[in-house]
Formats: sequence, structure tokens, C-alpha cells
Amino acid sequence: FGKDQVRTTYTIFDEELHSEKREIEMVEALKQAVEHMDGFYLTYQPKIHLKYRSVRSAEVLLRWNDKSLGQVSPGEFIPIAEKNGLIQPITMWVIETAILQLKEWKSNHMGINALSINLSAVHFQLEESNEKINHLFQKYHIDPNDGSIEFEITESAVMKNIDRGVEMVKELKGQGFTIALDDFGTGLSSLMYLKKLPVDTLKLDKSFMDGVPTIKKDNILLEMLVNMSEGLGMTLIAEGIETETQHNFLKKFGSVYVQGYYYGKPMTSSEFQRYLQDIITN
Ligand code: C2E
Ligand code: CA
Ligand code: CA
Ligand code: CA
Repeated sequence: FGKDQVRTTYTIFDEELHSEKREIEMVEALKQAVEHMDGFYLTYQPKIHLKYRSVRSAEVLLRWNDKSLGQVSPGEFIPIAEKNGLIQPITMWVIETAILQLKEWKSNHMGINALSINLSAVHFQLEESNEKINHLFQKYHIDPNDGSIEFEITESAVMKNIDRGVEMVKELKGQGFTIALDDFGTGLSSLMYLKKLPVDTLKLDKSFMDGVPTIKKDNILLEMLVNMSEGLGMTLIAEGIETETQHNFLKKFGSVYVQGYYYGKPMTSSEFQRYLQDIITN
């Protein structure tokens, strides 16, 4: 080894050690957070109907602010929660908090009547997780058929154990919940999953939208997917809309929903409330 190579090796080792240390710290902090359910809060990102410019629904996105670690992104802490048996209580807290928040917004006539909640891959590996969701809805006397809660699932989450995954999604659908297929188009066999799963909504992944409208191929794919979802009677929502150009391009499609920073970033409940009030008064 030359001198430089030795140094590089040490650097990599240090980094690994650092990230291992951070993960260990995070597991402990997450356990504490789950025990008292503190440090977690929900944010809401509007989903907009392009034609009517109305906001009837939002995606619930979880946030975690830990006393010593600070703000940790869900991209980092959710996989760790999944690995350490902590995701189920977190999911149930998310659902319960969302139910209560929606109840309040509905009774204050904020114009919002539905929320979408992300389900982790682990949800489909645990025996009692659908049942736990049902209990929550019974507790608050909510009929899942009222369309107020949609669950976002991904192909890769269901794929871990396909027969069981499909069965559990069907069970949720049978209970009356609305199902959205998230990150659509990023997986290997999305079309097969459309056949197998009782899906109401397709969420077109941001990577699809990145090339729109400058890359012709992406535009053609988008148009095809709009037609396909219409033909299948599914709702299509395009995620990750960031620019006015994308927005203007999408307007030519009739009934498409959109979500992205261009319309609104994920907001805390009070921010989102103000956002909704601004829409009502404008
Ligand atoms: P996702 O479900 O695909 O959520 C969309 C992500 O894209 C969110 O990141 C959102 O903030 C971000 N986003 C929205 N619009 C734009 C845009 O215009 N441009 C860009 N660049 N990004 C945009 P976030 O909030 O960091 O969440 C990341 C992932 O963490 C989510 O991906 C989801 O898989 C997971 N996640 C978040 N909350 C929950 C939860 O409550 N439960 C579970 N199981 N997973 C969650
Ligand atoms: Ca999602
Ligand atoms: Ca997504
Ligand atoms: Ca995702």
C-alpha cells in the first residue's frame, strides 16, 4: 500500500464506524420516542385536482425531531424503525393522529375530506396489522367506506411475499379502504401488479415527471399512462411537480391530480390549515 491508499482505507473505516455509531444511537432514540410517542409529528402535502384547482386531500408525511439527533428524515429513520420492530406502533400512531386531525378539519369545514397514509413493507409481513387498523377505525366509529383514508402501498412492499401481500391488500380493499399504488413506474413489473392488486389510484413517480415536457419519450409515456388509468377507471396522480412548465404541460390532460413543491411542500398541521384558509378566502 502507498501512503495515500492507507489513508483512504482509514477514512472509509472511520465513515463506516461513524454511520454504525449513528445507527446505534438512532435505534436507542427511536425506542425512547416510540415508548412515549414524542418527537413525532405529521406534515401534510396537498393533492390538487388540476382542472378544478381544488384541494380535497393530502398525503400524510411523518417527521421526527429528536432531542439529541435533531431533525431526522424519514428516508433515514423509517428503514431503521422497520429493521428494529418499531414501525408498527409508529404506523398506528400515524393513522390515529391522521384520523383525529381529519375529524377536526372536517368539522371546521376546511374543505378537506381525505388523507393518504403510507404503509411500510413490514405492514405486509405482520399477521395482525390489518386487524390493528380496523380496531382504530372502530374506536373512532369511522366507516372505512367513507373514502376518507387512502393507503399508499408500493410494489416492492407487496413483493417481499407476493401471495401474502396481495391477499392483505385485497383484505384492506375489502374492508372499504382506498388503495394507491405509490412510486408507480419505478418497479420491474408494475403492470403485473396492476392486474393483481385492487388499486384505485396510481401515483406516478417523480422520475417520470423529471423529463416532462422537454423529453418527448417521457411525454408519450405520460400520455399513455393517463389514457390507461382512465380506461381502467383509476385516478392518476403525478408526483414531484416542481415547475410552472410542468404544470402548464399537464393542464392539457383532463382529470389528473398533481402533487409537488410547485403547489405546496409538506406542511405542519397549522401551516396546512392556513394554506387551506387562504384557498377559501382567495
Ligand atoms: P413517498 O411516499 O414517495 O413520498 C414522497 C416524497 O417526495 C416525500 O419525501 C415528499 O416530501 C417528497 N416530495 C413531494 N413533492 C416533491 C417535489 O416536488 N420534489 C421533490 N424533490 N420531492 C418532493 P419525504 O417526506 O422525505 O418522505 C420520504 C419517504 O419516506 C416517503 O416517500 C415514504 O416512503 C416514507 N414515509 C414518509 N412518511 C411515512 C409514514 O408515515 N409511514 C411510512 N411507512 N413511510 C413514510
Ligand atoms: Ca407516498
Ligand atoms: Ca411516491
Ligand atoms: Ca418512495
